[in-house]
Amino acid sequence: MQNKQLRSSQVELEESKLKYFSLYEFAPVGYFSLNKQEIIKDVNVAGTVLLGIEKSKLINTAFIQYMNSESRRTFYKHLEKVKTTDTRQTCELELIKKDGTKIYAHLETITIKDDEEDFNEFRITATDITELNFAEEALKGSEEKYRSLYETMTQGVIHQDANGYIISANPAALRIMELNHNMMNSETYFNHHPDSIHEDGTDFPLETHPSMVALKTGKGIRNVIMGIKTPEKSYIWININATPLFKPGEKKPYQVYITFEDITETIKAKKLLNETLAELKRSNTELEQFAYVASHDLQEPLRMVASFTQLLEKQYKDKLDENAREYINYAVDGAKRMQGLINDLLAYSRVTTKADKFEDIYLEKVLDEVLFNMEIVIGENEAVITRESLPNICADYRQMVQVFQNIIGNALKYRGPKTPQIHISAQKENEHWLFSLEDNGIGIEPKYFEQIFEIFKRLHAEDEYEGTGIGLAITKRIVERHGGRIWVESEPDKGSAFYFTIPDKLL
Ligand code: ADP
Repeated sequence: MQNKQLRSSQVELEESKLKYFSLYEFAPVGYFSLNKQEIIKDVNVAGTVLLGIEKSKLINTAFIQYMNSESRRTFYKHLEKVKTTDTRQTCELELIKKDGTKIYAHLETITIKDDEEDFNEFRITATDITELNFAEEALKGSEEKYRSLYETMTQGVIHQDANGYIISANPAALRIMELNHNMMNSETYFNHHPDSIHEDGTDFPLETHPSMVALKTGKGIRNVIMGIKTPEKSYIWININATPLFKPGEKKPYQVYITFEDITETIKAKKLLNETLAELKRSNTELEQFAYVASHDLQEPLRMVASFTQLLEKQYKDKLDENAREYINYAVDGAKRMQGLINDLLAYSRVTTKADKFEDIYLEKVLDEVLFNMEIVIGENEAVITRESLPNICADYRQMVQVFQNIIGNALKYRGPKTPQIHISAQKENEHWLFSLEDNGIGIEPKYFEQIFEIFKRLHAEDEYEGTGIGLAITKRIVERHGGRIWVESEPDKGSAFYFTIPDKLL
């Protein structure tokens, strides 16, 4: 019975030895046993793989043989510490494999004592941490990269805790906000800039600040413009973003960081531009009003001058000599011309002061009406007018009639010796319609391409071609009122093409 028991204990012992042996042999870390002289006395499979040398060649070699001089120094210091402290110690050093490749290893060493409690051998576990080391190096590299970016970027970055206290701020943030390092962790920058405002000048309460909203809602806030009063300067303007930070698994942010840029100059420029625009609009309206009132009010006295001079001529014809009659004729003529000019001015100012609202109109109908109005003059000139289909646009109907009538009228007036041919077409281009009206008339020299659209600008004497030079100025003003552009392309004696654009949008 006893024998049986003994045998089974022996079997158990064998089994357990085997178990630990295989654990030792095939563990993923290298085990090395070194004697007092640091000679390898035993090594497991992982240890041989680590150095790339088979066990028989490793046994009885010095462990330091697989190190460079720097690692040896580290290793000796490490062993010294193990011996003197008599506790488990760790170190990291470079090992050289058989093929010359270097690996980075993490060593853990203990001492083993003999029965007399005397130090007998070193037991070392060695783990290959080359990859880990690479990753750490890479991380350090990228951290350095981001740090230098953080230090040198022109955007301000402020890191705040859940109560809005500043944890850190980059140099740009300190500069823009006029903060200093002493304020870290003890201040919110609001303590230093209590007065924040919106672009329209209204108050910007603390609880609506992007970092506060991001902390409260857990959502990122983008592109908020705010004015803050710094201790040194007056208001500075910033465009600010806030990003909440979460601990893993938590829904409530525990920190927030804000990034912002100083846009004071842009805001100042924008304000100046808006003020100038408003001023321009005001003076333009005043001028329009003036032109309208002046031309309107001048009509009446001028009518009086004209009609009384005519009356003078009629009733005192017999009593006046030839010279006096001639002078009166000049006066009547002058008064009539002035009436014409004033009417033109009035028509010009009416483009904006007495305009109709924009509505969706069918340009085919506009052109039909224009050709109908001009039937007689077209017939007299035996003009040939060809047209392509015209679109629907959003415009002032009466003014569109005026535009087509002015340009077609000119094409007939400034015709050459040939039968007038006028071609009207429209084509869609991006956001607008491009209209073209081509004629085969006398043409225009390039140096006048701009001038002909100016008020009262004419290229011919009154007796050559009738007119006052207002037609194209009005046409241009109408086109511009509609958000379009007008220009001419032409060659003397070959003909002209007038182009204008109107935005392609309907109500
Ligand atoms: P007006 O016809 O009363 O002179 P406009 O403003 O309509 O005034 O035209 C300005 C000038 O542009 C004209 O005097 C003329 O010299 C020139 N012009 C306009 N249309 C044409 C055209 N189709 N062909 C040649 N010249 C033109």
